[in-house]
Amino acid sequence: MKYENIRQQVLDAILDAVDLGLIHGTSGNIAVRDPEEPVVAITPSGIPYKTMNLEQIAIVDLKTGKWMDGKYKPSSEVPMHLACMRARKDVTATVHTHGMFATIAAMEKFGELKAITPPQAEFVPVGIVPFTMPGSDEVADRVVKALGEKGRAVLIKNHGMFCCGKDIKAAMAATIYTEEMAQTNYYARLADVFEPMPQEAVDAMQALIAADQAV
Ligand SMILES: [Zn+2]
Repeated sequence: MKYENIRQQVLDAILDAVDLGLIHGTSGNIAVRDPEEPVVAITPSGIPYKTMNLEQIAIVDLKTGKWMDGKYKPSSEVPMHLACMRARKDVTATVHTHGMFATIAAMEKFGELKAITPPQAEFVPVGIVPFTMPGSDEVADRVVKALGEKGRAVLIKNHGMFCCGKDIKAAMAATIYTEEMAQTNYYARLADVFEPMPQEAVDAMQALIAADQAV
């Protein structure tokens, strides 16, 4: 099968995301860029993930977004995934979820997300995008702007979260730990014991990660 490697990565990741409770029903989508050709494998639109197979993963053209292969049409969020990959040469995988705590944290009154544990520190600051119609070029533009040159996660108000990484493992880590950060921030604030990591500790963790990646 064509593009089997990237199709398999998308399928494995979406099943993991379902198991982890990050994705329910047919909401959320995952994309992986081919290492050689300008094509992207992405979850199809409106198909339950639990029984999905490789043929059902859609293949789209990175530059035009055109549907090239796959039994079902690609996710309606193709513009957001492709815009991120076009803007960021370091990104080869993207994950969009409607996780409960990220969705709560995307509301204005929640306040900025803060790292509470060291693994969360890699993903701050987390930007917020105001509500924009799902699947539109406008939401794609806003997400890309909010991510900037180095961002790994953004919250989308009244919608969910979008994360990216150098590979699918990194994009999934951003999704898992940003959702966890939103959850720990929520409960710590609710219990009135909110004490995020000091900024110096966050900076030190980020310096460690950068040094590790440079090796
Ligand atoms: Zn969505």
